[in-house]
Amino acid sequence: ELDSTLKVFEELESEVRSYIRSFPVTFEKSKGHSLWDQDGKEYIDFFAGAGALNYGHNPPLLKEQLLRYIAEDGISHSLDMGTKAKANFLTKFHEVILEPRNLNYKVMFPGPTGTNTVESALKLARKVTGRDSIISFTNAFHGMTLGSLSITGNSFKRHGAGVPLQNSVSMPFDKFLGTNVDTLDYLERFLEDNGSGVALPAGIIVETVQGEGGINVAEEAWLKRLADICNRWEILLIIDDVQAGCGRTGTFFSFEPAGIEPDIVCMSKSISGYGIPMAITLLKPEYDVWDPGEHNGTFRGHNLAFITATEALEYWKDDNLSGEVEEKGLKVGEFLDQLVREYPQLQGETRGRGLMRGIACKEEGLAEKICEQAFERGLIMETAGPDSEVFKIMPPLTITHNALDTGLAIIEDSIKMCIQ
Ligand code: PMP
Repeated sequence: ELDSTLKVFEELESEVRSYIRSFPVTFEKSKGHSLWDQDGKEYIDFFAGAGALNYGHNPPLLKEQLLRYIAEDGISHSLDMGTKAKANFLTKFHEVILEPRNLNYKVMFPGPTGTNTVESALKLARKVTGRDSIISFTNAFHGMTLGSLSITGNSFKRHGAGVPLQNSVSMPFDKFLGTNVDTLDYLERFLEDNGSGVALPAGIIVETVQGEGGINVAEEAWLKRLADICNRWEILLIIDDVQAGCGRTGTFFSFEPAGIEPDIVCMSKSISGYGIPMAITLLKPEYDVWDPGEHNGTFRGHNLAFITATEALEYWKDDNLSGEVEEKGLKVGEFLDQLVREYPQLQGETRGRGLMRGIACKEEGLAEKICEQAFERGLIMETAGPDSEVFKIMPPLTITHNALDTGLAIIEDSIKMCIQ
């Protein structure tokens, strides 16, 4: 028997609604690592808004700044006009994030969401190089608008709208062809071979850890070599850090351990730190070839997002959060390895880095069943991968050790339930 709000969704909302089907309750409240439904049942959040809530729900300091700003009649919407809130964000981002890492980027506000930053990156790469094709990778996910969807390596998502890989090719991601094949040899051969039909691209776009594609991790050496290839062929390297960025894998930018300097970086999800839509595109100054107004959008100047985003940078003034992510990530990783050993029926493979982890299960539908069982026991967890074969663990980075342990125990109980 559906409760009345769920009926509202079923009757009034489009069939395209998705998460309501996996999480069939109405949520009312959230704080830290927890959400509560309308009956007051608590759920631990191992999903964190698909990476949009790295600092948890309603983080107190961000909330305080937001409430203060609204109470003082701060500007909420300003298109592209200059505001103090925007200047403060730019200054602090430069001081806290870019300068200490010796990175030199200009910041662009491409529109409110992840797909907007990807679109801006694709357009810019084309404008800078005068070429039009883009290389992306198997199982990549870059967004749902026509441009970003056309480089998304998921045929189900492209299928209905008939979106082809336009002027672009999906090359095999790291380890896609097994652990003994260096897929970049493959990429280079295509670039070298004029007869291959693979045109010299404007840009190569890659996630360092593919989130939606199944928690596939690119090795540091692979990323370094990819950066070298881009350099040699004068192709712009675009890192899509929409999901893996903002500390999800440990460092603020996911590409830091590889020691590479992408030409363009796409960020969104947790950049506002509060679940308020915000995106930024970082571009090397020499590529800032936009004409004024050439890429615009109504919600680029979301000042409420600037307020929380500026406060969120406090987390990055020292290395504490990185250390926490590493420690919690190792704990999760070890626990998952142990589950794979103890429950051979899973035929599982552990994957991930930092607090972006999961287990790929061989049997069709098993990962989904485990998520359903977990949900009944008060844990929110989603699947990933082309066949939804991975259950994915992405709690807020700030989750307490206690809640992390409780969540992991729920996963083990759910597995036991599903394989007996
Ligand atoms: N890139 C990556 C790597 C993503 O994970 C996502 C969202 N899951 C996007 C782009 C698109 O972001 P949005 O849904 O905000 O448009």
